[in-house]
Amino acid sequence: MVLLRDLLQTTQASISLTAFIDSALCVGAGGSSGSLADKPIIRAADGHLLIPGSQLKGRLRHECEKLARGLGWPICESPVPQSMCPQVGLTQSAFQRDNYIVERREHKAFADGRPQHHCLICQIFGNPALPSRIVVDDLVCQVAPDTLPEVLRPGVTLNRRRRTAEDQKLFLLETSPVNVQLPFGGYIHLEPDCPSYAKALILAALHHIHALGGSKSAGLGWLTWAWDKDTATVDENAWELLQMGSNP
Ligand SMILES: [Zn+2]
Repeated sequence: MVLLRDLLQTTQASISLTAFIDSALCVGAGGSSGSLADKPIIRAADGHLLIPGSQLKGRLRHECEKLARGLGWPICESPVPQSMCPQVGLTQSAFQRDNYIVERREHKAFADGRPQHHCLICQIFGNPALPSRIVVDDLVCQVAPDTLPEVLRPGVTLNRRRRTAEDQKLFLLETSPVNVQLPFGGYIHLEPDCPSYAKALILAALHHIHALGGSKSAGLGWLTWAWDKDTATVDENAWELLQMGSNP
């Protein structure tokens, strides 16, 4: 049953953040129409350029996993179900710790009554058995689209074995304009039952994301983050909690 009360529940906190793109951005969607490019840049319905929230969330999860492992927390590994939460907790004792028990009646146990364990990362980002407790918005470019020129960047497919360019494989990428420090803004929302350490870990992970989108090795998509200080304050207890990774 869906309760109106649950739907209206406000989020615990939202981090307001902006990515300033230092070089050109290339977050493409293959097969879109309306552009000469083979891989046009993604736009919102009103034409504003955007970085999909799903892409930022994927990168954040990856960086948070690395940080959490570095702090000594056992973290599950996708995509094989046996090595992912909650299945991994049935066989690996490292995952059978008290702070991996989620205090939610409907997700606490398997059908046969055995308790479910969800690692630090799954408790934030979710898994097939546990809903995500953060929502990452699309980051939308705050500059009006009609003032931005369309930029096409030619590229060619390389044959790595022969180390030559392939015949007939010229393509065009659409990117945002180069070197204009375009701001892309949005929010990361933390649900009310999001763990207290989530914000600390997410802010730390943002420091490790230096580029987004495609062709990063060709120098595209490099960025600098800025966030609203009032929305990015972290409880001191959160840092202490994060340091308890190696002592369950
Ligand atoms: Zn996990």
